[in-house]
Amino acid sequence: MPAITADTLTLPRLPNLPESVTTWRGVRRVVQARKFLEGEGFQVRRPFPGVDLSLADPFLLLDHMGAVEYGPGEAKGAPWHPHRGFETVTYMIDGAMQHTDSIGGGGLITDGSTQWMTAGAGILHNEVPPPELVAAGGLFHGVQLWVNLPRTLKMAQPRYQDIAARDARLLSSDDGGALVRVIAGELDGHQGPGSTYTPITYLHATVNAGARLAMPWPADFTAMVYVLSGHGTVGAQRRPLDEGQLAVFGGGEALTLRAADVQPVNSPTGWEILVLGGRPINEPIARYGPFVMNTRQEIIQAFEDYEAGRLGKIPAAHRTSADEKLS
Ligand code: MN
Repeated sequence: MPAITADTLTLPRLPNLPESVTTWRGVRRVVQARKFLEGEGFQVRRPFPGVDLSLADPFLLLDHMGAVEYGPGEAKGAPWHPHRGFETVTYMIDGAMQHTDSIGGGGLITDGSTQWMTAGAGILHNEVPPPELVAAGGLFHGVQLWVNLPRTLKMAQPRYQDIAARDARLLSSDDGGALVRVIAGELDGHQGPGSTYTPITYLHATVNAGARLAMPWPADFTAMVYVLSGHGTVGAQRRPLDEGQLAVFGGGEALTLRAADVQPVNSPTGWEILVLGGRPINEPIARYGPFVMNTRQEIIQAFEDYEAGRLGKIPAAHRTSADEKLS
């Protein structure tokens, strides 16, 4: 996969955490992602929110896009729409997504790069596959994560961070059998590039067949593992966790994860996982579509502000007659 790769033998290593004396976090539950259609009709797998897991505080949503091989003309995106009250983090593993927003941010998210958009008080954006990908078709694989903002930051100034694949902090497991790409937050004192309002850790790991990945995890953070592809087990009890499944962990001081000895043909690099968690915000949530606030009144206000153009305007170069009502 075009997500960044490296020779793990040359990277800083995570500490060797002994099986017997470490307080491993136990697996509280396993959730199967459900399939939804998003935007103009592209399929996502969504482990949360859903009936099995309403809240993954401080996260609001995880959408796994693909992996899918598009034919010519098939790739779809999410045209201009607003957000308020949280942050969207888009990580592209294969293929590309073109982003444009109402504060002048934007660019091509591709091959292991990440785009971090703080909607805060309000933003309009456009997330679509680039015309070349639509025309030619091709492999498309990415993830969008929504990170909540606390009440005091919901109306923060919108912000855009473009994180190149080479900016991810690369680490290896204690024996070199797993590659860890820290996208945001820190792991064992190694700081990832994404600057986050809400304290979180977000990483993509490739665990070689049969290898173990153990890592310290902050005691006050929630912890989850989502499988992009491949087979593995989570926790000291070695609970199986396969593609499209999410494990939610209980308390403890570290995570232990293991790739199965034999991997499926669609995951030749090993067990591909996201590991994520953060400090829970523990506030009431009112959500409706693209807005996530604390109260229903604030949602109504968000709609009024959007209709009045106070969440931003579509840049003139991107306006079409169909957009006039938004502008
Ligand atoms: Mn969006």
